[in-house]
Amino acid sequence: MAFRIGQGYDVHRLCEGRRLVLCGAEIPFEMGLLGHSDADAAVHALMDAILGALALGDIGKLFPDSDPQYKDSDSMKLLERVIALMSERGFSLGNLDITIVVERPKLSPYIGLMRENLASAFGCDISRVSVKATTEEGLGLAGKGIAAHASVIIES
Ligand code: MG
Repeated sequence: MAFRIGQGYDVHRLCEGRRLVLCGAEIPFEMGLLGHSDADAAVHALMDAILGALALGDIGKLFPDSDPQYKDSDSMKLLERVIALMSERGFSLGNLDITIVVERPKLSPYIGLMRENLASAFGCDISRVSVKATTEEGLGLAGKGIAAHASVIIES
């Protein structure tokens, strides 16, 4: 069996008048993430991790934000396309681990749903999918944005 590893990172700014969507879960909050698509930073980091493992560049190359067809697009749909690229090359998910860096809101009530959404996109058991959240104790983005780190192992 061959293994490849990938990592991804993304950050989006919080602003008023936008939905907050992370790992495909809509989270009730007074602000949302600003971006060309639905700005799901966690799924963006994950897609970059998979593309990194495949050495296929990044999502900016695949889904340019200058292209109007990706405006407000559902990042889970884009993830399906990245998973298809992985499958076409004979790889499947070993496991993934995402850390979301967020001051507010508290994500713990939504972590289960996020893991289910991702497991269903990959068609894999939920035990392969880890989503965690942490704050930066007010020292980093401090509520101005939400960042996400993703690591994946894919196997053929
Ligand atoms: Mg992004």
